[in-house]
Amino acid sequence: MARGHHPGSPRARRAPAGGRSYHAAQSTGGKAQLQRAAYEGKAKRVISQPDGVAHIYYKDDATAFNGARHEQFEGKGTLNSQITERLFEYLTAHGIPTHHLGRIDERTLAARWVDIIPIEAVVRFKVAGSLAKRTGFDYLTECDPPIVEMYYKRDDLGDPLINDDHIRLLGIATPDERDWIRAMSRRAAEALRDLFLRVGIDLVDLKFEFGRTGEGDLVLADEVSPDTCRFRDVASGEILDKDLFRFDEGDLLAGYRKLLAHLDRALAVKPGAGVQG
Ligand code: C5P
Repeated sequence: MARGHHPGSPRARRAPAGGRSYHAAQSTGGKAQLQRAAYEGKAKRVISQPDGVAHIYYKDDATAFNGARHEQFEGKGTLNSQITERLFEYLTAHGIPTHHLGRIDERTLAARWVDIIPIEAVVRFKVAGSLAKRTGFDYLTECDPPIVEMYYKRDDLGDPLINDDHIRLLGIATPDERDWIRAMSRRAAEALRDLFLRVGIDLVDLKFEFGRTGEGDLVLADEVSPDTCRFRDVASGEILDKDLFRFDEGDLLAGYRKLLAHLDRALAVKPGAGVQG
């Protein structure tokens, strides 16, 4: 299952400080081996396995505004694991290296074990969310070419927007890694945008995270789902992502189910065949 070094991926000779490790607490040898490392996030639980594998369990929790809002939606974890699985497989087929390995059960995916780089790369095709706040531009104003932003992944600091100089100061990625993350984020986002446009769904913006494998490869990691992307139905304007929960815009589960159905139709459409009814 292990994949080789991706030709475009800059090898990390020395892992800069600050990465959150899926396997940070792993013990070694004998009885201690049974004591599996686990990382508990807001919407997922990551449990280390032997041989550099992580099991990622998708919870039913939804949080917003840095945890200020928190609810559970029965079935959300399963839906997000299904959407993430399909999107990582699609991205892999489009030459984007990811940590994804396969499915374990209804809501658990297997992935390569990585040290998460504490950078959230956001790609925006249209203005929404914090960019609307920061610029005063109307929602859904085109960003052409797309905008790539980097945020410092630190809950206690509120995940602030950072620039290249901050990344250098923080020592969280080398200049090569930072450039690769930016280029790969844009490429992956454009591939996903093309996919959803086949069925009339607009990918407004999304967030990616990247990690370093034990072999030193950089790969796309974490999840890609309606928790981490904004999707709008082009024809109706319907919201199909976590904004349903963030802004009380409607039924989260119904939106996520619809998004999965749209995604399955998109994956069945030949590229270039256009919007299907
Ligand atoms: O809130 P903002 O407009 O900056 O979010 C941009 C995109 O990044 C949205 O698709 C949002 O779902 C995603 N995001 C995320 N996790 C965060 C912040 C933003 O998935 N911590």
